[in-house]
Amino acid sequence: MKPILDHGALFRCPLCHSPLLAGETSLRCEKGHDFALSKKGYADFCPAARAGAYDQTLFDSRSRFISGGFYGELVEALRRLLNEYAPQGPLLDAGCGEGSFLKALCPDPSARLCLGLDLSRPGIQRAARGGGGWLWAVGDLSRLPLQTGSVAAVLNVLSPANYPEFARVLRPGGVVLKVVPGARYLCEVRALVRDRLRQEEYSNDRVVNLFSDRFDLLSQREVCHTYPLTPEQGADLLSMTPLMQGIEKEQLDTAALTSVTIHLAILAGRPR
Ligand SMILES: [Zn+2]
Repeated sequence: MKPILDHGALFRCPLCHSPLLAGETSLRCEKGHDFALSKKGYADFCPAARAGAYDQTLFDSRSRFISGGFYGELVEALRRLLNEYAPQGPLLDAGCGEGSFLKALCPDPSARLCLGLDLSRPGIQRAARGGGGWLWAVGDLSRLPLQTGSVAAVLNVLSPANYPEFARVLRPGGVVLKVVPGARYLCEVRALVRDRLRQEEYSNDRVVNLFSDRFDLLSQREVCHTYPLTPEQGADLLSMTPLMQGIEKEQLDTAALTSVTIHLAILAGRPR
């Protein structure tokens, strides 16, 4: 099953921008740039992508944590925004990681074409596990392997962005839905590692300003909720969050982590 081959017209060569044609086991441009499809069905537009710091264990933790329902309110808010601003047409999740948010948002990918893209190969491998009809690709946000004006919405959840590329691949009238941390996001984890953080307080002002410089802001809303945590969920959270970079879990009083605040801002915008 390689559903991505059925949608070759969506893609363009990230190297020379020529259209890509579907072969038996790869997508290929007229200049001979060839992008293999893995046996699991995902496309690899960035064969040089390193595994990086994000390994399989991290994505397993992230997948388990997200499935705990902590982001249900976020997913519902995103669904409402999609229904309002881009009810149909292809959806790109740019920086999808292991694909949890895209799968939660569009549980039935036969209803709309859904493509998740990330530079992390372990993330995409985790996303593609089990099939299910979503399209997955290893690729670089700064060189999206997509035709200009090909998607109706770009989703960008807790991930770096490339706004010029997002604007390029959007159809006229298309929207970007960007999710950034709010000031209280994971404040319980921040409290736990307070002594080791370079920046104790977090503000998303700069990110919001940068977004509204680039896009006409259609909507800005927040979700904020504090949830109880089981010890297993706490361990998964500490394994997945970048706040823990360079910190050993063993050095912390992790038993103190009994709740978590999910405070997120959701920005919806159209390219100017
Ligand atoms: Zn090419």
